[in-house]
Amino acid sequence: MKASQLFTKTQKEAPADEVSKNAQLLIRAGYVHKEMAGVYTFLPLGLKVLENINQVIREEMNAIGGQEMKLTALQDAEIWKATDRWDDEKVDVWFKTKLKNDTELGLAPTHEEPLVRAVKPYVNSYKDLPFLAYQIQTKFRNEVRAKSGVMRGREFLMKDLYSFARTEAEHEELYEKIKQAYFKVYTRLGIGDQTFITFASGGMFSKYSHEFQTVCDAGEDIIYLDRKQKIAVNEEVLDDEVLKSLNIKREDLEEVKAAEVGNIFTLKDKYSKPLGLTFVDENDKDQNVLMGCYGIGPSRLVGVITELLGDEKGLVWPVNIAPYKVYLAVLGQDEAVVKAANDLYEDLQTSGISVLYDDRDVRPGEKFADADLLGMPYRIVVSNKTLEQGKIEVKGRTASETDLITTEDFKKLLQDSAV
Ligand code: ATP
Ligand code: MG
Repeated sequence: MKASQLFTKTQKEAPADEVSKNAQLLIRAGYVHKEMAGVYTFLPLGLKVLENINQVIREEMNAIGGQEMKLTALQDAEIWKATDRWDDEKVDVWFKTKLKNDTELGLAPTHEEPLVRAVKPYVNSYKDLPFLAYQIQTKFRNEVRAKSGVMRGREFLMKDLYSFARTEAEHEELYEKIKQAYFKVYTRLGIGDQTFITFASGGMFSKYSHEFQTVCDAGEDIIYLDRKQKIAVNEEVLDDEVLKSLNIKREDLEEVKAAEVGNIFTLKDKYSKPLGLTFVDENDKDQNVLMGCYGIGPSRLVGVITELLGDEKGLVWPVNIAPYKVYLAVLGQDEAVVKAANDLYEDLQTSGISVLYDDRDVRPGEKFADADLLGMPYRIVVSNKTLEQGKIEVKGRTASETDLITTEDFKKLLQDSAV
């Protein structure tokens, strides 16, 4: 992509009404556009980050046998009445609407009910189980507070996976496998060392649910962290009982702010029972399917990664999710320099390296400032000086020094850089 063609531009100032760091940086860099509080459009660069995050999640869910599907956003009120979740007293974040004939519809805040109904025709015998189904879909929640930029949307993206098992032992096995896949996701996204499994409320059958919390000042949760053991307890459940069951001591715990980037639950037969999702077991007996649900927030992750890694100059993307690996800046308009930069642009792309090529006729200072704000992992400069030496100038986004190296060495460097 050439910067001269990209329709978005960087801005010096963030909108005055935008208080969160993530939204300020993402708007200034032209990654997102604010439609209204808690509702953000992902512009081309922002969409690339979001899609890269989705792809990491997708690969890890597929690796454990997850089958991707896509449920609808529009919801039939009847099925939610069957589980007593249509009432605004029971679920207080509903957005509701009506057909012309006054039939009530909802915009999905989550998807347990419609998913159970969609898989039901295919689940009859014990031979049809177990399986994992998931989607990456827009959710709608009428959140009271929406001041955390893309970290708390009223319309946001969620990856939600659901497990369907025959026995508790089978459920536990799936649950553990999915938990491990979650760790892999956060590691690949570059936040593994700051993301901790956290005991939290909301467990309906197991006493606790497991949250994945990323330590981050902009987070809305307070967790108590045992860094050595790499586990944490959400303040909402911190008491002697939980400390004892986890074999941790209050004095070893550090109080930190954190953002919930994932949440996994055992549901048992909470939805299968009222909705009649049963199977005939080996003894010809009807049994309720045992379920679990497992969420990750890709759009929240864009915000969390921005908050955690972004610095005073702008965004900082881990290699795995950056919109482009390289920001290539050509300095000056000399014919030979421009030709060398054009050739390098082609060469890198042929080698499978994505490049945002700053081919604009603007001052070097402006190019460097934009390179920092946009946050690609590597900045490359081609100028008269680098051309004379037959090398390119390379700088990692957070490095303080530049290096003069050959194109071949740069390609090797990229191959070796993991996250
Ligand atoms: P929170 O406690 O932050 O309100 P939640 O517990 O209601 O979240 P879940 O229903 O468990 O969230 O949703 C699964 C995941 O979806 C969360 O872990 C989070 O990453 C993401 N998520 C939830 N609500 C939002 C939101 N309003 N905006 C963006 N992402 C969200
Ligand atoms: Mg939660």
